[in-house]
Amino acid sequence: MTDQGVTLATGDAVTADMVVMAVGAKPNLELAHNAGLEIGPAGGIAVDDTHRTSDPHIWAVGDAAEKKRDSGAGMIPLAGLANRHGRYAADAIMGIPIRNQVAHGTSIVGFFGVAAASTGYSERVLRDQGRSMRIIHAHPIDHAGYYPDAAQLAMKLIVDPDTDLILGAQVVGDDGVDKRIDVIATAMQAGMTATDLIDLELAYAPQFGSAKDPVNMLGYINDNRVAGQQTLQWHEVADHQADGWRVLDVRTAFEHSRGQIPGAELYELDSLRERLDELRGSRVIVHCRVGQRSHTAASILRQEGIEVKNLDGGYLTWQLGTRATEHLTQEAHSR
Ligand SMILES: Cc1cc2nc3c(=O)[nH]c(=O)nc-3n(C[C@H](O)[C@H](O)[C@H](O)COP(=O)(O)OP(=O)(O)OC[C@H]3O[C@@H](n4cnc5c(N)ncnc54)[C@H](O)[C@@H]3O)c2cc1C
Repeated sequence: MTDQGVTLATGDAVTADMVVMAVGAKPNLELAHNAGLEIGPAGGIAVDDTHRTSDPHIWAVGDAAEKKRDSGAGMIPLAGLANRHGRYAADAIMGIPIRNQVAHGTSIVGFFGVAAASTGYSERVLRDQGRSMRIIHAHPIDHAGYYPDAAQLAMKLIVDPDTDLILGAQVVGDDGVDKRIDVIATAMQAGMTATDLIDLELAYAPQFGSAKDPVNMLGYINDNRVAGQQTLQWHEVADHQADGWRVLDVRTAFEHSRGQIPGAELYELDSLRERLDELRGSRVIVHCRVGQRSHTAASILRQEGIEVKNLDGGYLTWQLGTRATEHLTQEAHSR
């Protein structure tokens, strides 16, 4: 590292005002190797449900030991699991029965006032596992909008479409991120379904939350999907357009003028009913800013027999996803 930036292993110099280092975690397995312990498929010390290793006289917990996940073994280097498993291993050694629950890897980081948290699986990991999933994006505010300093959250819930069980969630925002991810992690641990999130009775006063908490909102959106609402993801829009689908922006003309999906036609929600004849026979994608007004628009169009899909997470998710993809593409080209 120099005053101007960093020099890569390739010899290339990259100039930067600030360097953020994310080195990851790799278990030191030397002791385990020396003891002849079995290394598991995820690359850590293989343990059974009592945290016992392949040597019946040795138990292993913490970063170097594999964790039980619902799809098999995994590596999750987190302090909470190291502590819980330490207690359980001690119980097991003393012959006390233990419950080895699957690990969800609930974690949170903060940088420059923004928090990013995750529990369970990400979409990418599930795709790699070839698993089917229902994805829900939402952008609720962390507390009542009329109370000062309300900030928008970016939330993603991943659900097993067959069982309605929650497979994972990610939340990013300025405030209230820890509360939401912990509630979802607790729901997952308790084996609750995504629809059950509707019924969680969460603390509400205007400075802390909303009468419909963001976690409840995820449950409501999931319920709409279970009831048959058709949606598509932000990265599927272009392919649908190429296949002849029209994109309707049901936000206001002012919002549309501030930025729009290429090819999107302005059909403000308030005047949609007067313009239905223009849409008959078309297949349409509807979107608003976050997906709520377009849910209403989709219901109106479906009642009229028009084939319609609601853009999950709205313009905001499409914009964030598109920007991130462009950024990653530029970065890949600059290497
Ligand atoms: C910078 C940093 C920040 C982190 N922040 C978080 C966080 O915010 N939240 C979170 O959940 N997790 C966090 N973690 C991860 C967390 O610290 C680990 O998951 C946790 O400490 C793992 O516990 P452990 O017992 O497996 O390992 P450790 O806590 O590393 O303990 C292993 C011990 O074994 C000793 N040791 C190693 N080899 C030998 C040997 N041959 N003989 C004798 N002793 C030996 C080491 O000196 C060490 O004391 C962070 C980790 C780092 C590095």
